Amino acid sequence: MLPKPDPKDIDRKHRLSLPNNEIPKQDPEARVHNSEEVYEHFDWETARAEALRCIQCPGAPCVRACPLDNDIPYALWQLEHGEYEAGAEVFRLTSTMPEVCGRVCPQVILCEGACIYTNMRKRPISIGRLEAMMADYQKAHGGPSTETAPPTGCRVAVVGAGPAGLAAAELLAKKGHAITVFDAWPAAGGILRYGIPKFKMDHAIADEKAEYLEKLGVQFRFNTWIGKGVTVDELLDEHGFGAVFLGFGAGISVELKVPGVDLDGIHTASPFLVQANVDEDKKPPDLKGLPEFGERVAVIGGGDTAMDCLRTSVRLGVKEVLCVYRRTEEQMPGNERDRRLAKEEGVQFKWLTQPIRFLGDENGHVVAMECQRMELGEPDDTGRRRPIPVEGSEFTLVVDTVVLAIGYWPDPLVGESTPGLETHDWGLIVVHGETQATTREGVFAGGDDVLGPDLVVRAMAQARTAAQSIHEYLMGQELEPAETTPTS
Ligand SMILES: Cc1cc2nc3c(=O)[nH]c(=O)nc-3n(C[C@H](O)[C@H](O)[C@H](O)COP(=O)(O)OP(=O)(O)OC[C@H]3O[C@@H](n4cnc5c(N)ncnc54)[C@H](O)[C@@H]3O)c2cc1C
Repeated sequence: MLPKPDPKDIDRKHRLSLPNNEIPKQDPEARVHNSEEVYEHFDWETARAEALRCIQCPGAPCVRACPLDNDIPYALWQLEHGEYEAGAEVFRLTSTMPEVCGRVCPQVILCEGACIYTNMRKRPISIGRLEAMMADYQKAHGGPSTETAPPTGCRVAVVGAGPAGLAAAELLAKKGHAITVFDAWPAAGGILRYGIPKFKMDHAIADEKAEYLEKLGVQFRFNTWIGKGVTVDELLDEHGFGAVFLGFGAGISVELKVPGVDLDGIHTASPFLVQANVDEDKKPPDLKGLPEFGERVAVIGGGDTAMDCLRTSVRLGVKEVLCVYRRTEEQMPGNERDRRLAKEEGVQFKWLTQPIRFLGDENGHVVAMECQRMELGEPDDTGRRRPIPVEGSEFTLVVDTVVLAIGYWPDPLVGESTPGLETHDWGLIVVHGETQATTREGVFAGGDDVLGPDLVVRAMAQARTAAQSIHEYLMGQELEPAETTPTS
């Protein structure tokens, strides 16, 4: 690994004059007929040219904007000198899954949003793509180290094989603890597989991660619901685990309470995405086969999940795909990049619109939805202007399939079945902010079950803190508030 550059050796003026490089991607006409990733890697020469644009900013705003504190300028320094594996290793010092973050992080509001070029109203460095490229290169050339500390004799149960659980499992296994991961789905990845479609991130990445963890000695128990059969108490008291990490996400869909919502042809987002995108052998028995769909699909919602459902519908071959959202485009919560891609792929948007009733035919199948126009009122608690119905503005949209993508809560099951585990607002787990310790001794938590529906990178960051705390707890040390915790 090359040492860090001396700032006086960086010709900032020259670097700032270099042109940016467009990330290659599949044409919309081609990509709507396949499930391959939309974005492609640069060739290495272009990747190095892109890395060379980095002026190694003092104070590195991109690092401060990254929830994992990835040392992006240092990784790009390795890349511009052709040290691809070293660049990947810089990411792996703070991140367990750069191959994932490089693909799915909303860089525009994180590292790339903080990049000096963004401030100058120029195209930021394509940090995400370069991160994914170096991580993939390293995996193809021997992969990251599988070295672990000598066995400690301690066992940790990880509940959930999503980004949080996988990150915690890796970091704890590297410390020499014996890890068992329990997950309700038949395979690893959490939303990385059972949510995010392959055209955003190839699901093979989740398989490879699980294989890598197995090399570290991690054991997986799939199709296992903690709280239904075995409880957290039983894991601690009867199964010999010294600590438990809860990373069970926020997988319960928010219900839309309007008449007709139970009609056939109306889906919730998660089963729709699983049926349409997950390999048959990785689906649970009740979600085999494709979802039922017609020629006019309306997706209700405006976040990442809604965009994934819309773009999945396009790839299923649906003729008209419509996004119905109750606020304006500026207020949409999801990744702007995905919205742009959805538009390129032919998705239509209806802003300031809310369904108030679904209408069915004599067979109980949805045939239309009655909507109401909205206008924006005063800001609500979140600071966003509240949508208010416009009286007398009702109109009908003809649709034969509806997908509801309006949000998620955590499953209350674990909270309800674990005495002493405090939860708040809709079942989110209460944690000590600096250690991720819950109110139940020996139990730690991180990810969407603490934050609510959020981001992969923030789930991983919380898991990293929790893993450090679990290690200290098992070693009988005082829990230290974690700052930047190197992972290897
Ligand atoms: C459709 C969709 C698209 C998204 N797109 C993006 C994106 O592009 N970029 C981004 O950064 N974020 C995105 N997100 C958000 C991101 O995926 C989550 O913030 C992240 O996955 C949270 O990680 P987690 O490990 O906390 O939870 P999850 O990924 O939800 O994993 C939780 C795991 O726990 C398991 N589980 C639940 N209950 C139990 C139980 N009782 N016992 C055993 N196992 C259990 C589940 O089966 C699951 O595998 C998206 C979310 C959705 C729904």
